[in-house]
Amino acid sequence: MYDSIIIGAGPAGISASLYLKRANKNVLVLYYGQSELEKAHKIDNFYGFPNGISGKDLYQNGINQAKNLGVQVSNEEVLNIQMNEDFCYNVITSKNTYKSKTVIIATGNKKLKPNISGIEKFEGMGVSYCAICDGFFYRKKDVVVLGNELYAVSEAEELLNVTPNVTILTNGKEMKENTNIKVNTKKIEKILGDERVSGILFSDGEILNCNGVFVAEGVAGGSNFAKKLGIYTDGDKIVVDENMQTNAPGIYACGNLVGGLLQINKAAYEGAMAGLAAVKYINEKR
Ligand SMILES: Cc1cc2nc3c(=O)[nH]c(=O)nc-3n(C[C@H](O)[C@H](O)[C@H](O)COP(=O)(O)OP(=O)(O)OC[C@H]3O[C@@H](n4cnc5c(N)ncnc54)[C@H](O)[C@@H]3O)c2cc1C
Repeated sequence: MYDSIIIGAGPAGISASLYLKRANKNVLVLYYGQSELEKAHKIDNFYGFPNGISGKDLYQNGINQAKNLGVQVSNEEVLNIQMNEDFCYNVITSKNTYKSKTVIIATGNKKLKPNISGIEKFEGMGVSYCAICDGFFYRKKDVVVLGNELYAVSEAEELLNVTPNVTILTNGKEMKENTNIKVNTKKIEKILGDERVSGILFSDGEILNCNGVFVAEGVAGGSNFAKKLGIYTDGDKIVVDENMQTNAPGIYACGNLVGGLLQINKAAYEGAMAGLAAVKYINEKR
């Protein structure tokens, strides 16, 4: 049982880990996929670097700083978070399931919506972002999952609990994971339907009839986890209070995924706030 699991090793997640570890808490940082920070060629507006620093170096420095302090850091893709009855959490990754008293979500920006005609029109009317939340409505029906990586496979596996008719659509991309689930790699033209989704039109004119479209592209982001846990969101952003607390007890969110100024200073500040709030919560729970 960890005191805190932090998802994300960017400025928000690493700052949170430093405050938790210095308060003697048992912390695990999980990270997978590219951080926004790594994309920055040169950072010139962050305190303490008179000649600037590359985003890649600053990102790695952050991870090394946490490790030097004794924080456990692991390169694992987080696929799901589940709440237990005792308000502790299971964090499910590509390799393990971990248990924690608190979770800090610091996964940066992730655009949930792929650029496919009909996605927005049919949201809530056949287009879903969460298999565990909405799968039940598609018992024995035909559903498709949009994506080509492990997260898409994990969402498709969740749907197999309610219907055998699940197809993964990669929309022209190569399928990156091995799976026994049916995969179709054709490029998608649009989602079809009147009031609700009725099918998928591929670029070659073929139509695949289906009742549900589950979006699971790339790596799961903070708002995917939020939807699974019933955490309030505003579009792709997670809603938090001034202490970075979400509406779920013991779950915090910080950095780019809560919106506002998309800069390192703000992500680091919010990480610190989330870490301190989690320390208080863990102590009160004890
Ligand atoms: C090109 C570019 C230039 C920029 N220049 C500047 C600048 O000059 N100054 C400035 O202040 N800001 C700059 N920024 C913005 C800055 O990089 C971000 O504001 C900052 O990195 C946000 O930090 P974060 O911790 O919220 O998210 P990120 O840094 O994006 O970190 C997200 C973390 O979450 C992890 N993750 C995501 N999903 C999962 C999952 N499912 N499982 C496990 N781990 C996951 C990722 O691996 C990563 O470790 C720039 C951004 C870009 C793209």
